[in-house]
Amino acid sequence: MSEHSPLDLAEGDPFGPHNLPYGVFSTSDEPGRRRLGVRIGGYVLDAGAAAHALGSPYASLLAQPSLNPLLAAGRTAWRDVRRALTAWLTVPAHRADVEPLLHPLDAVTLHLPYEVADYVDFYASEHHATNVGHIFRPDGEPLTPNWKHLPIGYHGRAGTVVVSGTDVVRPSGQRKAPSDAAPVFGPSVKLDIEAEVGFLVGTPSELGTPVPLGSFRDHVFGLTLLNDWSARDVQAWEYVPLGPFLGKSFQTSVSAWVTPLEALDAARTAPPARDFPLLPYLDDAAEEEPGGFDVRITVEINGETVAEPPFSTMYWTAAQQLAHMTVNGASLRTGDLYGSGTVSGPEVNQRGSLLELTWNGRDAIDLAGGKRTFLEDGDEVVLTAWAPGPDGTRVGLGEVRGRIAPAV
Ligand code: CA
Repeated sequence: MSEHSPLDLAEGDPFGPHNLPYGVFSTSDEPGRRRLGVRIGGYVLDAGAAAHALGSPYASLLAQPSLNPLLAAGRTAWRDVRRALTAWLTVPAHRADVEPLLHPLDAVTLHLPYEVADYVDFYASEHHATNVGHIFRPDGEPLTPNWKHLPIGYHGRAGTVVVSGTDVVRPSGQRKAPSDAAPVFGPSVKLDIEAEVGFLVGTPSELGTPVPLGSFRDHVFGLTLLNDWSARDVQAWEYVPLGPFLGKSFQTSVSAWVTPLEALDAARTAPPARDFPLLPYLDDAAEEEPGGFDVRITVEINGETVAEPPFSTMYWTAAQQLAHMTVNGASLRTGDLYGSGTVSGPEVNQRGSLLELTWNGRDAIDLAGGKRTFLEDGDEVVLTAWAPGPDGTRVGLGEVRGRIAPAV
């Protein structure tokens, strides 16, 4: 037997060869050179160098500073590249070539692995939408009349999507409580999180041509954890009648790793039962593959778990969201990112925002460092998640980490 290899993973490692998420990294000796990487255990494989060393036909596609060329290459290339990577990382004969191309994760810098084209965010959890409705419109029906007929969403700001680990500077803006005579300007006093799953589009679509439910896997490459940082005081004053704007656009954080859909076949699950038939372009009852994903999210603030939102409870699926946002003929671009909306389950400890966990600040939660209603400067939020993998394994999703920096 040889020395211990980075490829000898511990039993049950959620980043084993059944996972293989993609990222982009640089090393301290070449900080300006960004390279495509694939995570295996506690290491990242230099994918371009491995493809070159092993004579892969995909060497030029993988020798890139960004995931976008691979995203654009389409589903057949995604499948073939994943098969090749699996072989390089599992077939013993490749070890001598591959091992020198593995970098310990703690020795590399991770970057946003793709250029975000358009960014859309949805509102797909019935539990979240109901809680928010009760909080913001206490005298009305919690769900708006359209909510169960279409996946509600808005177009966000692609240029402020950042990679995990980027600080969040507390935003300033206008706010006005109902009891205030006039709005005031200043740093947000209700800075919040939204624990979400983001879906990354690879294959573009033609302007004027909708993408049907059944074409989801031809266009969507993979998923990632996403934190839609939200300034609730700014949001509450500005959102009528056109929806979220500056209360959301200051920053959105995503994982440094993109998990390919192919790693999540065992995590597919049926969404909750529908109350009534949907219009045909959204009706997924006859689809071959169940539309949901059984992703179990954990939200930590300063190292303490505050919620465990279950993504399997989402009313609208990612395929329905894709069908809806293109049904008017709007086209997809490589690098489009869309968020699921805050993931909240039926239980109190399954709520994916402080807005809900503290009922808009009414009920503070106890942390070791003190009570919290909304985030304070210096607080660090970490989202982690896993999904069922093949044969009882777990597929780990890359974490999303962010620390609150004081307003400038
Ligand atoms: Ca959101």
